[in-house]
Amino acid sequence: MSFYSNILRKTALPFLLSREKQLPTLEHFSFLQKSQFWSTDKLLDFQWACLKKLLQESYDNTIYYRTVMDERGLTPDSFKSFDDIKKLPILTREITFDKQAEFFSNKFLKSSLQEFTSGGTTGQRATLFRNQQSFNIKLAMAWRHETWMGRFPCEKMALIWPAAMDFVDDEPFKTKFKNRYLHRQIMYNAGGLDAESLNFINKDLLKFNPSYIKCFPSALFGYTEYCNEHNLIQPACKAILSTGEPLSVNQKKLFEQTYKCPVFDMYGSREVGNTSSECEEHDGMHIAMETSYVEFVQDNKEVEYSTEGEMLITDLTNFAFPLIRYAINDYGIPMKEPCKCGRGLVRMDKALGRLSDVLYKQDGTKVLSHILGIALTMEGPPIGQMQFIQKTYTDFVVKITNKPEPTQEIFDFINKEMKLLLGDSLNIVIEVVDKIPKEKSGKFRFVKCEIAK
Ligand SMILES: [Zn+2]
Repeated sequence: MSFYSNILRKTALPFLLSREKQLPTLEHFSFLQKSQFWSTDKLLDFQWACLKKLLQESYDNTIYYRTVMDERGLTPDSFKSFDDIKKLPILTREITFDKQAEFFSNKFLKSSLQEFTSGGTTGQRATLFRNQQSFNIKLAMAWRHETWMGRFPCEKMALIWPAAMDFVDDEPFKTKFKNRYLHRQIMYNAGGLDAESLNFINKDLLKFNPSYIKCFPSALFGYTEYCNEHNLIQPACKAILSTGEPLSVNQKKLFEQTYKCPVFDMYGSREVGNTSSECEEHDGMHIAMETSYVEFVQDNKEVEYSTEGEMLITDLTNFAFPLIRYAINDYGIPMKEPCKCGRGLVRMDKALGRLSDVLYKQDGTKVLSHILGIALTMEGPPIGQMQFIQKTYTDFVVKITNKPEPTQEIFDFINKEMKLLLGDSLNIVIEVVDKIPKEKSGKFRFVKCEIAK
């Protein structure tokens, strides 16, 4: 930890935070730094107390949860253990969209809430809300996850981001100065991947000389490949935190080789903030138990350990617009054994792909895209970035990037795995491309199904 960042953390940071009503973040941060080392049982007790409070407040103050519980003959006292939460329905984005007004707690002034939207890669975009205290706790949790790669607030960090929606045009000079010299964190838009912006990022990064990088892996990957191709010097770095989309084996390898530092994977979302993150053991991701309750289910039943399930996330901090059993449209794998690092936080493993990305077999049955993702990335020859587009039940276009240049062996491998999974008589057209375009949100989609449903 540098002397200068230490001074900033003690002087400028509290001042900046208090101006934004974020001063309690420091207290939350200090709490979370301790609670991560509590025993799992103590963390579960804490999580249960938070969940009970959330159920009570949601019942007392929101129309949606009052109605849903009344309809089922439930009161907050009906919930005696974590398992009882399954008595409540799964919350989809569509419900928050259709019944938005019913989710607001009457304890908060709507004008005091922060508004945010979901990423938008999985169908309907939802507009959700959060109270200031929830924001502060989530910020503290983000800081905690950064400490796992070694970064404390006010240490230099570059954010390599793809999504234009996070950028504010014409940021005032004061904000730029504050971010660069006090928070010491600069966000770069590497979404365009055009030479001009990548050259600019490279120049400014060298000047800024960050110790840490936080990135969407596809954005950092594109930028890094460009720099390597053009023999541009890259700043040395202590660690990289990857978030926003699945981190592929190839991306991780390129980052480790180029920046000569470890890469940490983190799972979070706009809707419920940071959910889980890798510690220095790099063995699964610790769930942020103090702020989230995560279920892994299939047909509303908890899956066994080491088995993939749909993730339902309950945000334990958001009392203004409660999200209980929120279907984030992702899969995860609950892990049983404790981590060697000594943290009591339970762990999960990530699954590839997104739930809503569905493919169809010839007979019309659905296949979840993550199964294809696992088949193609867990073994076999190294392959560039891939995208699968299903045109009809039998016609597919597979885009594959030209680095590494795909060989006949790779074409055969893709053909074999797809036919194994989706049926024998498929027409698979493989296109080798320079890059795969991203969605408007800036996110990359592994599978696109164009069959009208
Ligand atoms: Zn650990």
